[in-house]
Amino acid sequence: MNDIVKPDAATPDSRFAAKVFPSPNHGERKQRDGENSDALPGRRPDMLILHYTGMPVAGEALQWLCNPVSQVSSHYFVFENGHTLQLVPEGRRAWHAGASHWAGETDINSSSIGIEIANPGHPGGLPDFPEEQIAATLNLCRDICERWSIPPERVLAHSDIAPGRKIDPGEKFPWRRFAEAGVGLWSEPAPIRGGRFFARGESGQPVEALQAMFAMLGYGVAVDGLFDEKLEAVVAAFQRHWRPEKVDGVADSSTITTLRDLLAATQGARTA
Ligand SMILES: [Zn+2]
Repeated sequence: MNDIVKPDAATPDSRFAAKVFPSPNHGERKQRDGENSDALPGRRPDMLILHYTGMPVAGEALQWLCNPVSQVSSHYFVFENGHTLQLVPEGRRAWHAGASHWAGETDINSSSIGIEIANPGHPGGLPDFPEEQIAATLNLCRDICERWSIPPERVLAHSDIAPGRKIDPGEKFPWRRFAEAGVGLWSEPAPIRGGRFFARGESGQPVEALQAMFAMLGYGVAVDGLFDEKLEAVVAAFQRHWRPEKVDGVADSSTITTLRDLLAATQGARTA
């Protein structure tokens, strides 16, 4: 047993992480089905997933992510004061996403880099993210997106890839500010006002069209014309990220217009 640690094993992949604080909870990134595995030992990450810890005390969340019993981890951990640690090397598959779906893929752990942001979350009253923490997270995200060429439309919330199961990092996360700094996709939300809307229990062609729009953006949603509990969770996840003023799972005209504008922005980003 050689217990001499290689010097580079303790060097974080990002210059914005102060040091490595290793978690054992990771594995090898898996290729997408049919993808040539000769070039790389595992899939190259092209998504960035943001989380909050949802625990009252940051240090306890960190210990949990590094405990082999938990079977969960993330690549990075950002404390409230901005202090940032790397838990899992970027080339490895950290276990942060769980059962999830985006743009036809379900093994999001293999395709993404995950960041845990210390915050007590909804169970703890969803306190504001401190400025130091947001500034540090933004630097880290920008660095990761640059080094891995992660496109804006693939910088997502945990709630986007697991609607109905996850609600982090929550509607207070400053997505607009991140997008203005080059991280993630944003379109100014359409104002909330009255008019035709769709809610749980409805069905038909307009609901099907709405589902198709969410699926086009990347959400894992059935296009069956039924506004059920699952679609309601997708609408809420979308609002939490892109129309945070009102998160109610009702597809009002503001939500639908914002979705349409985002899709247009995505198409622009993809052809740019
Ligand atoms: Zn999460």
